[in-house]
Amino acid sequence: MQLSDLTQRDEQDPLASKRMQFELPQDTIYLDGNSLGALPKASAKRVQEVVSQQWGNDLISSWNKHQWIELPLETAEKIAPLIGAAKDQVIVCDSISVNLFKLLTAALAMQTGRNIVVSEQGNFPTDLYMVQGIEALLGEQRCTLNSVATADIESALTEEVAVLMLTHVNFKTGRIHDMQRLTRLAQDKGILVLWDLAHSAGALPVELDKCNADFAVGCGYKYLNGGPGAPAFLYAASRHHDAIRQPLSGWMGHTSPFAFDEAYQPAPGIKQFLTGTPSVIAMAVLDAALEVFTDIDMYQLREKSVALTDSFLTLKEQQAALDELQLISPVDTSVRGSQLSFTHQNAYAICQALIDHGVVPDFRAPDIIRFGFTPLYLRYQDMHTAIEILVKVMSEKLYLQQQYQVKAAVT
Ligand SMILES: *Cc1c(COP(=O)(O)O)cnc(C)c1O
Repeated sequence: MQLSDLTQRDEQDPLASKRMQFELPQDTIYLDGNSLGALPKASAKRVQEVVSQQWGNDLISSWNKHQWIELPLETAEKIAPLIGAAKDQVIVCDSISVNLFKLLTAALAMQTGRNIVVSEQGNFPTDLYMVQGIEALLGEQRCTLNSVATADIESALTEEVAVLMLTHVNFKTGRIHDMQRLTRLAQDKGILVLWDLAHSAGALPVELDKCNADFAVGCGYKYLNGGPGAPAFLYAASRHHDAIRQPLSGWMGHTSPFAFDEAYQPAPGIKQFLTGTPSVIAMAVLDAALEVFTDIDMYQLREKSVALTDSFLTLKEQQAALDELQLISPVDTSVRGSQLSFTHQNAYAICQALIDHGVVPDFRAPDIIRFGFTPLYLRYQDMHTAIEILVKVMSEKLYLQQQYQVKAAVT
């Protein structure tokens, strides 16, 4: 594969113009959109508007005048088509961790006589931590975490299991679970299924309704480009809205928040999942970021994502200097998300050296270098440049330099 093949692909790329909708630093190839998406120009503009004009000028009247109060639902409506969810099943609020708490606790309460939450070893830690916290709060009789090896998930789905909680795309390896099949197998045993879409939403097509998922959560600041600490989203299938009661019964989830009733009465439908006042500035930034997706076909985006990861991998394999980097992501693109991960004993220092030379991946302890591929703002030619720089860092052993060994607080 030559640079000219890649520039030709860029010329034919139907998504090429999307790059213009982002602020990107010069001379940087950003392969970390799976940790923090790049800044959409619309978000930069919107934050000015919300802060200076709306808050600065219209003050409290903005809740009505600028529909701040509608943001959790309005923003959710922009996410719903990206995850295959029909109307009124998605809401934007809080973080994934908090939304997991709400959904897990509520799902456990729906499953009388069952107490096990099955999850996977190697899942993102917060998912497992939240179950451990619920176990400590409710006691083991009501909640017990059973986190099993990937190969043992199916055999762990027994009639004692209340909830199956999985991350659709593994954050370390990028392996994709078969959502449809696992959801069906679990539901055949009466198990409720909760999917974490942190590395799926905005990266590949998700079909929650078609897979008959019960619940899901996902991230605003990764592939959705909502900015650091952007609010998360929560999905609950309509069929559960009447039976479910989430425990964080705050006033924003009340059926009539401004009646100031003393007795909690949950709002009907998805709104009952709100807790406190939405973070308006952050949510407006996410809302604007989602404009980038309005005319996106997720299947077309997926095609480019696969082509980018494949080009990167092909170029990598042409370079003997890169043989030391061991691929831990699936080779089969049909089960690989929008990322490639490699292990190396000097992974941390290699990441630092790459960043210093204008290629930004990230490091995941203890020894993983993770490259994320965001089809909206990456070009095919960037794969070539990134590999060139990677070859330089590896063949000249630049990563052994002292300044690349020091660990920062956030890695
Ligand atoms: C990034 C990520 C999270 C983040 O959780 P927050 O509570 O929103 O910080 C959760 N789960 C997975 C799988 C992730 O990758």
